[in-house]
Amino acid sequence: MTAQIIDGKAFAAEVRAKVAEHVSALKADHGITPGLAVVLVGEDPASQVYVRSKGKQTVEAGMESFEHKLDVSTSEEDLLALVDKLNNDPAVNGILVQLPLPDHIDEEKVINAIDPAKDVDGFHISNVGLLATGQKAMVPCTPLGCLMLLRDHFGSLSGKEAVVVGRSNIVGKPMAQLLLRDSCTVTIAHSRTKDIEEVVKRADIVIAAVGRPEMVTGDWLKKGAVVIDVGINRLPPAEEGAKGKLVGDVDFASASQVAGAITPVPGGVGPMTIACLLANTLTATCRANGLPEPE
Ligand code: NDP
Repeated sequence: MTAQIIDGKAFAAEVRAKVAEHVSALKADHGITPGLAVVLVGEDPASQVYVRSKGKQTVEAGMESFEHKLDVSTSEEDLLALVDKLNNDPAVNGILVQLPLPDHIDEEKVINAIDPAKDVDGFHISNVGLLATGQKAMVPCTPLGCLMLLRDHFGSLSGKEAVVVGRSNIVGKPMAQLLLRDSCTVTIAHSRTKDIEEVVKRADIVIAAVGRPEMVTGDWLKKGAVVIDVGINRLPPAEEGAKGKLVGDVDFASASQVAGAITPVPGGVGPMTIACLLANTLTATCRANGLPEPE
């Protein structure tokens, strides 16, 4: 292996420690404790795991965690009523509705009902528009985490050729916006992109957010490219009852022979996502109270 490993786990721990420091200063100087409300509808096992670790890390950062676990049969109307209550609760600075929602609930309607100032996931249409026009937005956590890792690695991203594989509203599109804001030359590739390997080969920076296990292989990469693997895929277990291995959207074994630096899965982008959620909650709290925002 030649590539440097980008240690997202260690970086995320640093981000969380900085957040905790700010939170403790907020409490001491202003008597303010940031609060994050997480809403989970149904019992999707992966979502339950995410919500549990979000709650735990929120408390560890010194913030207040409000968990709302609703039955899978909860109506859209009742969920919207809860969002409205949280919007009006001064103890709640950030609201996150865990996706995916059950089929009978309109996801867009729920997301757009969240007060944009409390939309710590950055999915509200106002925040999407603010980010796209270069204004102060709440920035989606996963792409923000990727950007932080890239800035830490490169310093300036200006002029870099970046290829984002995936065009979802959650990862691919906001990632492309952030890279553009940092003056990269950005290409977004997706399932209809022709000669995708050749497109990816142009890149100094490759972001893989596809949801297909180990799709991007070493022979797609330019020598020395920096590879950020957003994918979280669980392979089928080798034997019944066992847990399948967790892999990214990048074939780590071959990619790490060619890349200059690469994030592992697990331990790369994943931990950054929750760290950025905490950072966004702190930012939302500072903005709500007219206090200077942490960097
Ligand atoms: P989506 O399914 O919403 O989007 C996947 C994107 O990949 C689509 O734009 C799709 O293109 C594109 N795609 C699918 N197949 C191909 C292909 N063969 N070639 C090129 N492009 C393709 O996924 P998400 O963006 O929500 O998530 C992507 C991955 O990131 C998943 O593995 C998910 O688990 C992970 N993830 C990790 C997070 C973390 O914290 N680390 C957070 C969020 C997601 P098209 O639009 O044309 O269909």
